[in-house]
This record gives sequence, structure tokens and C-alpha cells, in this order.
Amino acid sequence: MPAALAVENLHRSFGALKAVNGVSFEISQGSVVGFVGANGAGKTTTMRILATLDYPSSGRAYVMGHNVVLYPAEVRRVLGWVPDSFGTYENMTVLEYLDFYARALGFKGQERVRRIQDVMDFTDLGPLSDRLINKMSKGQGQRLCLGRALIHDPQVLIMDEPAAGLDPKARVELKRLIRILAEEGKTILISSHILSELGEMCDTLLFIDKGRVVHHGTADSLVRTDNVETLVDVQVAHYPEKVSAWALTAPHVKLAEERKNGARLRIDSADPDIIAGVLRRMIADGLSVTEFHQEQRNLEDAFIDMLGRIEQGIAGPVPGQPPALPAKAPSPPSPPPPPSLPVTDPARWGG
Ligand code: ATP
Repeated sequence: MPAALAVENLHRSFGALKAVNGVSFEISQGSVVGFVGANGAGKTTTMRILATLDYPSSGRAYVMGHNVVLYPAEVRRVLGWVPDSFGTYENMTVLEYLDFYARALGFKGQERVRRIQDVMDFTDLGPLSDRLINKMSKGQGQRLCLGRALIHDPQVLIMDEPAAGLDPKARVELKRLIRILAEEGKTILISSHILSELGEMCDTLLFIDKGRVVHHGTADSLVRTDNVETLVDVQVAHYPEKVSAWALTAPHVKLAEERKNGARLRIDSADPDIIAGVLRRMIADGLSVTEFHQEQRNLEDAFIDMLGRIEQGIAGPVPGQPPALPAKAPSPPSPPPPPSLPVTDPARWGG
């Protein structure tokens, strides 16, 4: 069984800028994988190459075993692409939009009607079928975008920041739809900056930084760490800003995050005597501490730690990281990228 998505030493440069710089990963069929990285890390570029919307400068990418450069039509048959924003269409209703794509995909007669009905039911867009697209809310638009990507019932879905800009209710609804698709066995690669949500939804997380994969493993393996440190939430009765200022000078302590009534602090030890010493010193230094309790490391902490380790050049394999990809028989070199995508390329319509 081929991997649903496989990327081998992928590079994509824009002039001197290396947007993707030697990325390799494999995603097995049926997995839900979160694609994580700072702004500009290379997520969208990698996803666009997988979705046959861009060409690699070098390296290879496969969707369900199909090389994205050599067999783009086969890739599109098995892939649904949900971009981070979709162009608004003036004077087009939800039904017309879905019908347009269903026709473009070659579905005819009752088959087309059934497929449109299925995605409208799934995304709960039936009641909005006559709504003009440019009059829809962001959440409704995102559901429509997902529905459009599902018309041909693809095995693999690539979603670029689908939750961006959605209110909490729309995010919960989107997560529910993604969970159903995952239960149906679809492979889903989903990028987001909301790490806690990705942690809940995804089997594994793929972290990318400056065009390179820096971690691929479960959320747990990322949060567990050999670093011995303690995170504490400190709340004070007065002058919460003093906690941050105090953290700058106190031994063993660093500021993790300013908070309304105090701060979240990192103590560089798990030794109870040192932790107690930090609290004693706070009180001795005049902070009006009303609460001091230990917090769990979360995915954001782990991500920021990892970026810090990379910056200092001390990043090594993170605990739980899967072994390197098995060596493969060399494949023929990718052909040079054509100058531009053909105008008839249906993948361009999704933009
Ligand atoms: P974000 O989280 O902000 O969406 P990202 O991880 O998706 O970021 P990319 O959009 O892949 O990052 O961009 C990677 C780098 O490549 C960025 O520095 C970006 O400015 C640059 N880049 C992307 N597309 C192009 C392009 N068509 N021409 C020039 N530079 C580009």
C-alpha cells in the first residue's frame, strides 16, 4: 500500500529564497496529520506542490503513489484541496458554484445531482443553496470550500489553515466535519497555527521550520521532554506587571507569558526545593502572591522550545521522532518544470 503522501528531499526556491529546503516525510493512508510552522516556514508552498498547483525546484512528491509532476491528473482524481481562502464569485449561488465544479469534474445527470446533494448535506449547506456566495459568512464559505473539495470523494484532503478567521462555533463545526472525514478513512493533511486544536484532531504533527522538517511525531512525544523545567502560573493581588519585571532578574526563572493578573513563568528545574525557593524569594521581594501553581507544558511551549533549540543549533531528534524514512530505489529525475500551468488545469480554479 503506497503512502498517501510522500515527499522526498523537496526543494522550492523563489529567486534566492529557499521556501522549501529539503523536506521529506511520509504520511500513511488514513492518518490525520497537522502541518505546523511559523509564518513563512514553507507549509503552503509544500501543500501547493502536493496539490499540483506549483512545481518543485527539485525532489519528488507523491499522492497515493502518483508523482505530482509526472501524473498531475491522477493526483487530482484522488486529492481534495482546501485553500486558505477562496476567491469570491459575484452573483453566483452556492448551488451554482457546486454545480460548476461538479460539471468541471465531468459528472453528469443524476450522478452530478447526487454528488452535489451529498456535499450539501454533509456541510449543512442545503438551506443556503440559493445564497449568493459573496453574502456568506466566513464559516459558511469555508464549509462551501470543503464541500467543493469533496465532490469527487477524494481519498486525500489537503487543507491550508481552514480554521483561520473562524469564530469558535464555526471552528467546532469544522472540527466535527474533519473528524467524520477521518473516521471515513480519508487521509488529511491540515495546516494551522492553533496548535491545541491540531493536537486534539491529528494522529501526528509535522513541524517545519525554514523549509525543513524539524519534527514528525505524536503531540505527546512533542510535549514530553527530557528538559527538566517547571512551568508555574503566578497570580498576584496588586501590580501584575511587577511579576514580569521580577522574572527578568530572579535566578532559575524566565518569563513564559504575561497574564492579566500575573504571569506564567518557567523555572529551569524540577527540584521541589528550587521551586519552593522561587516562591519564597517572590514573597521576600514584595510580590503579593495569591496563587502559585504548576502548569502542564502545552504544544505551544514545545514548539517554541524546539524553535529555540534550532536557533541555538542544539536541536536534535525530539523524543518519539520516527526513524528516518526507509531508503528507496532511486527514481528517475523529475523533468524540468514547464513554464506555467496549462490554462485548462482544473486545479487552478480553486484559487
Ligand atoms: P504562513 O503560515 O504565513 O501561511 P507558510 O509556512 O505557509 O506561512 P509559505 O507560504 O510556504 O509559508 O512561504 C514560504 C516562503 O516563501 C515565505 O518567505 C514566502 O514569502 C515565500 N513565497 C511563497 N510563495 C512565493 C512566491 N510565489 N514568490 C516569492 N516568494 C514566495
